[in-house]
Amino acid sequence: MFLSELKTGESAVIIKVRGHGGFRRRILEMGFVRGQQVESVLNAPLRDPIKYRIMGYEVSLRRSEAAMIEILTPYELLTQRSDLSTSPHDEVMEQAINAKIREINVALVGNPNSGKTSIFNALTGGHAHVGNYSGVTVDAKSGSFKYRDYTINITDLPGTYALSAYTPEELYVRQHLIDNQPDVVINSVVASNLERNLYLTTELIDLNPKMVVALNMYDELEQSGAKLDYEQLGRMIGVPMVPIVARTGKGLNELLDEIILIFENENPKVRHIHINYSTTIETQVKRLSQMMKRHLEELPKCFPPRYCAIKLLEGDKAVVDMLSTAEHYREWRTQAARGVVQIAENLGEDVESAISGEKYGFIEGALAETLTRSNEAGDGSTSLIDRIVTNKYLGIPLFLLLMFVMFWSTFTLGTYPQEWIESGFVWLGELVGSLMSEGALKDLIVDGIIGGVGSVAVFLPNILILYLFISLMEDSGYMARAAFIMDKVMHLAGLHGKSFIPLVMGFGCNVPAIMATRTIESRSSRLITILINPFMSCSARLPVFILLAGTFFAESAGVVLFGLYLFGCVMAFATARVLRRFLFGEDETPFVMELPPYRIPTLKATLRHMWERSAQYLKKIGGLILVAATIIWFLSYYPRVDVSGYESAQSARAAQSEGSYLGRIGKFCEPVMEPLGLDWRASVAMLSGAAAKEIVVSTLGVLYSVEDAEHDSATLSEHLIASHNYSRAAALAMMIFVMLYFPCVATVVAIAQEAGGWKWAAFSVVYNTLLAWLAAWGVYHLAMLIGV
Ligand code: GDP
Ligand code: MG
Repeated sequence: MFLSELKTGESAVIIKVRGHGGFRRRILEMGFVRGQQVESVLNAPLRDPIKYRIMGYEVSLRRSEAAMIEILTPYELLTQRSDLSTSPHDEVMEQAINAKIREINVALVGNPNSGKTSIFNALTGGHAHVGNYSGVTVDAKSGSFKYRDYTINITDLPGTYALSAYTPEELYVRQHLIDNQPDVVINSVVASNLERNLYLTTELIDLNPKMVVALNMYDELEQSGAKLDYEQLGRMIGVPMVPIVARTGKGLNELLDEIILIFENENPKVRHIHINYSTTIETQVKRLSQMMKRHLEELPKCFPPRYCAIKLLEGDKAVVDMLSTAEHYREWRTQAARGVVQIAENLGEDVESAISGEKYGFIEGALAETLTRSNEAGDGSTSLIDRIVTNKYLGIPLFLLLMFVMFWSTFTLGTYPQEWIESGFVWLGELVGSLMSEGALKDLIVDGIIGGVGSVAVFLPNILILYLFISLMEDSGYMARAAFIMDKVMHLAGLHGKSFIPLVMGFGCNVPAIMATRTIESRSSRLITILINPFMSCSARLPVFILLAGTFFAESAGVVLFGLYLFGCVMAFATARVLRRFLFGEDETPFVMELPPYRIPTLKATLRHMWERSAQYLKKIGGLILVAATIIWFLSYYPRVDVSGYESAQSARAAQSEGSYLGRIGKFCEPVMEPLGLDWRASVAMLSGAAAKEIVVSTLGVLYSVEDAEHDSATLSEHLIASHNYSRAAALAMMIFVMLYFPCVATVVAIAQEAGGWKWAAFSVVYNTLLAWLAAWGVYHLAMLIGV
């Protein structure tokens, strides 16, 4: 009987709580735990919620929630037990409760011919028909037996390959899991054919029941000479695994012990994981499930919200029917329809095939680390590309080569359109300058706005190229392989391959990269990945490097650029080790690294990604950078200095910018930056980078076009050379400093949000700046020593 049926004034004892993990946890936290006495205070028909008294408190539950709680009442016991003539006394009741809470309902789920019926027979001593063809079990067969103190009711379900609602068997099995809510699911898996059998396991993981995998026919796996680290595999997917041979009964007791531990919530291997899909799908799933989570009470209690979101995207009829009664269904359906179109456009296939492809990728990733195939079997299942790309010797050099090509192209290919944009802005500046009369307004527009914004806008092509590479790598599936081959390297930093993708994304922008760390399930690994992310030089810092490397190291700019990025990575690596060593303990949680199917990225998706990013960049130029450039201009233009005593116009202008507010701020910081060979202009530029790193360049742009107005048509690079303000060593120090010092405001906010506290954001600001100064100081002196 269920709690919702308990009449006002009656009391009962709680036997179990059903529903998906999140729901169950919430109900348990309210005190509805097994064996607890509960009394219905007010349960009027048609009235929702219902009031209960539990542990001396009054608690309200929705009717639908109470319907998920199984109870036992004395009256119920009386009707069940013919030997009782009067209301059962306490002792009888207690015995009945004890028996009842030790009753485990188990369901057998697995592919056809995976040995479910053999397991069922071996456990129950029954003689259900075992056959070597599919379709033997047409409907569920149940049996009971006793094991230790427990009564186990086991149900043998029809064989299925998946849990989508296509075949009657699939529908039947899923419906059974929903209606009967077994306490533990045994997923019977053919050990020698894991790729295909584990597909159903991934479907079950989505549904999140308490589950154990029975690796059946383990004898065949051993005979074939293959080796499986099933303990590790089980830890990775959060599901305990027990090797068994159903035919001989080997391993069945271990299986039952495991089931009892799971039932009692005492199995440390049980962990709910998400199968992470690639960005395109994951974005849509997240968007939808977030919308759904806002109305938890409208969702079916038997499914986790994420599952509902995935199935709605897939258009799963049964789930859609279930959701269609929800008040916000229309809203969700509209969002899902939009998501389906996006996925189809970006991936060139429908949601269902995309998701199932990625599930196989999850399995491939899990097995790549745990299964050693026998020689004769070969690795026929992994593609030729994978054999090259993830090869022990070729993998890493290939990856580094790709990275080098990426940065080299960013720099060299970018210079052509860069020159066009640059001359465009110079032309615009001259045009506006010739049309306007002399005065502060003209100076503001020409030097402040056009000079400042223009100096940043020229880097748009470089950023586009960089993002082109990143999205090509991500969309094609290479990035996941790169993560895979980097796993060992990442372990040296106390991290996991999974941290790798957020780190590479950091080369684009640290903000989405920090948000992408959400796929990392371990808190300490996630925190470390967040904190070292700013050392992955984002594309906003690229303009600074391109400017300085291009100006001072023109002949070897590509190498300098590559070296800088590498330096950032080394600092990230070292920081990760330090954090792991001194702040966080070892991280033992293993994860699966999905190896999604290779896809040829569609032109449409790639163009869309590039457009989205360039739009973002342009928006930034139009907004934040425009404002910052204007403020910087004001600070450098005022207060006006009396320059009547100066001979040349140039020295007058230099005096002006030095005497300005900006000059004063810079002068204040200069003593700190002087040991790095940098003057107050560089100090001001870098301070202004707190708003956004591109502003470092636009600030220099404003400062130099104000100062060196004689060469109005000169580029910033020419201004810098003409000024003789920085040596090559100082330029190097400045690049190192910009590479490492405090992250921009947006990143600081992202760190605080994702790491869960301002203290981590503060840590990042202080630590990064200190490290930047020390590293820049070291590099500066080293560079002077060897005389670059
Ligand atoms: P079901 O379709 O999942 O119910 O699978 P069955 O229980 O009917 O078994 C399918 C086939 O696998 C039968 O021929 C069984 O004899 C065989 N089988 C079951 N368990 C084992 C095992 O542990 N080892 C081996 N080698 N064969 C098994
Ligand atoms: Mg069967």
